[in-house]
Amino acid sequence: MEKVLLANIDNPKSAEIGVYEASGGYDSLRKSLELAPDDIIETVKKANLRGRGGAGFPTGMKWMFASKDPKFPKYLVCNADEGEPGTFKDRPILEKNPHILIEGMAISGHALKAEFGYIYLRGEYPAAKGILEEAIRQAEAKGYIGDNMMGSGRNFKLAVHQGAGAYICGEETALIESLEGKKGHPRIKPPFPVNVGAWGMPTIVNNVETLSNMPFLMRVGPEAYAAIGSKECPGPKLFCVSGHVNKPGVYELPMGVTLREIIYDHCGGIKNGKTLKAVIPGGISTPVLPPDKIDCPMDFVNMPKHGSMLGSGAVIVMDESVCLVKVCLRALKFFEHESCGKCTPCRDGVSWLRQVLARIEGGEGRPGDIELLSEVAGNITGKTFCPLGDGAASVVLNFIKHFRDEFDMHIARKGCPIK
Ligand code: SF4
Repeated sequence: MEKVLLANIDNPKSAEIGVYEASGGYDSLRKSLELAPDDIIETVKKANLRGRGGAGFPTGMKWMFASKDPKFPKYLVCNADEGEPGTFKDRPILEKNPHILIEGMAISGHALKAEFGYIYLRGEYPAAKGILEEAIRQAEAKGYIGDNMMGSGRNFKLAVHQGAGAYICGEETALIESLEGKKGHPRIKPPFPVNVGAWGMPTIVNNVETLSNMPFLMRVGPEAYAAIGSKECPGPKLFCVSGHVNKPGVYELPMGVTLREIIYDHCGGIKNGKTLKAVIPGGISTPVLPPDKIDCPMDFVNMPKHGSMLGSGAVIVMDESVCLVKVCLRALKFFEHESCGKCTPCRDGVSWLRQVLARIEGGEGRPGDIELLSEVAGNITGKTFCPLGDGAASVVLNFIKHFRDEFDMHIARKGCPIK
């Protein structure tokens, strides 16, 4: 498959506008500015582009909701706050291919009649801030963005807003609160940001990868785009693979590639000839899978049928040497640290889960602890204000579901059986 999102990134000057232009960069924007905004939205709907941030919501439908809202101004926000453990798929775009994102945002801004765009960048990506700001300056200097883009009479101004390093600000309403200068706490929904978002106005929040698909989609058209990869959710997809594989990294592959193909064909298999024990397919909050489930196609429709989710496409591979109770505990420490504290089931429940896991992992587990974990997790699920609480509970429930023996052995032997 032709590399789209990661095109040119091996060129040391890939972030320069000249390199991007030489491979057809900003041609799709020129073409899009000749189209009516609603025609671009129809194209996106026809291509069946689904959001790459984790939820997989149909992008064209989201855009239509915002577009039909009569309020102005409208805002386009790029969610570049990838903070989930294991997730680093957007980083190569932000640092090495920034113009594909800027062009994608300019096309999307035109489609949405939004004249202001923000890139909400995670606090831990300081290098990307300077690269993006320089790329924006270059695009403005060439007249691609700013006032009267390419003589079209349309305006689109773009700015980078750097977060302070809170995972919760990857949730779109917390992100908007943070963008407005407030504490990054999620808002109640409805109303949804497409109608009442930043400063009370219609706001579309899309992931870096989603927006970066736009130049390619507009270049090849919806039929050719929809023919790539999985029928239900087509297009190119970035997978970031970490853990015990021979060749970890970020891979651009067609949506619907299987986990087995990612691990064994693209990443060279398990390191040091060891055997696969478990895979987290889409970032730490997605359900862990045992080795017999790795033939699942990686897309938003098929992964749930195999007991997990595509999430962000952040694949974490673990070999036989890994203590899964320890992994589960480490994940819960993360969620406890990142809980914003707004709602009780998450604030207190996640802390309880972490404490019980810590005693099992430390060799002080008691009979009944696994049932206690399941009960506490069950009391968090569906009762929290945002998905962070559900994600934490799901991690515990799925590690127990697939690897209960390992938890039992920790309690019976008063410590890790792998040591
Ligand atoms: Fe905050 Fe957790 Fe409640 Fe989300 S679920 S609002 S992170 S306390």
